[in-house]
Amino acid sequence: MYGKFKEHLQNELNAIKEAGLYKNERLIEGPQQAAIQVAGKEVLNFCANNYLGLSNNPRLIKAAKDMMDRRGYGMSSVRFICGTQDTHKELEAAISRFFKTEDTILYAACFDANGGVFEPLLTADDAIISDALNHASIIDGVRLCKAKRYRYANADMEDLEKQLQAAQEQRFRIIVTDGVFSMDGNVAPMDKICDLAEKYNALVMVDESHSAGVVGATGRGVSEFYNTYGRVDIYTGTLGKAFGGAVGGFTTGRKEIIDMLRQRSRPYLFSNSIPPSVVGAAIETFRILDESNEIHDKLVANVEYFRTKMMEAGFDIKPTQSAICAVMLYDAPLSQKYAAALQEEGIYVTGFYYPVVPQGQARIRVQISAGHEREHLDKCIAAFIKVGNELGVLK
Ligand SMILES: *Cc1c(COP(=O)(O)O)cnc(C)c1O
Repeated sequence: MYGKFKEHLQNELNAIKEAGLYKNERLIEGPQQAAIQVAGKEVLNFCANNYLGLSNNPRLIKAAKDMMDRRGYGMSSVRFICGTQDTHKELEAAISRFFKTEDTILYAACFDANGGVFEPLLTADDAIISDALNHASIIDGVRLCKAKRYRYANADMEDLEKQLQAAQEQRFRIIVTDGVFSMDGNVAPMDKICDLAEKYNALVMVDESHSAGVVGATGRGVSEFYNTYGRVDIYTGTLGKAFGGAVGGFTTGRKEIIDMLRQRSRPYLFSNSIPPSVVGAAIETFRILDESNEIHDKLVANVEYFRTKMMEAGFDIKPTQSAICAVMLYDAPLSQKYAAALQEEGIYVTGFYYPVVPQGQARIRVQISAGHEREHLDKCIAAFIKVGNELGVLK
């Protein structure tokens, strides 16, 4: 049987290669941090989600080791059978304090948090109104639920209002959005979303994966940024980006919602508990962020510095209130050539083009981190200018 199937796969894989969409993985020979080793050469990393620079933080490494000593290596169980340690509850409480919410439930990943949030809460009588640029895991979660689906154009409040009007027949409605959209770095207009939710009687859910730790005066996410505390019902997020970058996800919000997820959310009920080492490091992450705003302040200063210098040099950068800076090139082959030339200069970034971004919107996405020092930023900016002159992007 495999012969025919193998042939089919080979054809499909060849088609992916011919379309230039085949993904090759570059091997990093060391820890994740600002300066990494790739193919024996040091490059500066500007494409990790390591926003707070914690991925190789000594305090987190120590906390992970200490927790392994205290609570062991693995849980060998789901949470509700015998997979809950006191420290899982401690981490859930720390996340609730961070977001000023009533309760939190942990998952193996935010992909699972989003995959398991809709189906336990909503039925075919209800409606989900989702931003067109929401993350793949939200789209999958919505697919697993029988609620009626509505979609609105990215951050378009007129369209959202239309969809809310169309969804008035349903019993309950929920508006779902990413906090920060990963391609442009724009923040969802949560204040206006909450206004519309109140006007049309809808719940609000936001995925804070790219926004938590980043947006808001102390990095507490969209509700700090827009002062929408008490108006957002459900937040989902990841421990795999700003918060140390290992693995793990969570849903945090109203008590009854979290309680229902513990009873019925399938990725929670049928998938293993997160291991003690990750729990220990995550608790330490929230302790560090509670102690001072130093790391977040550095991130904000780095973003400001990079954007200002790049715009002074004549680059076209999408407006952003996050740590994602989209350097617009508009031309797909140019974006690939540019990214390759930057790597030659020791700068590791990714060029994105259709279908990841709209046709004619090719770009290089730069992700700034609190782990970057001024010299790293200066080297990156200088490389962008050098390549920009060579490729005729800068006039
Ligand atoms: C990265 C990301 C996820 C997935 O998070 P994991 O914890 O890695 O599964 C989910 N939603 C959004 C918006 C993301 O950016």
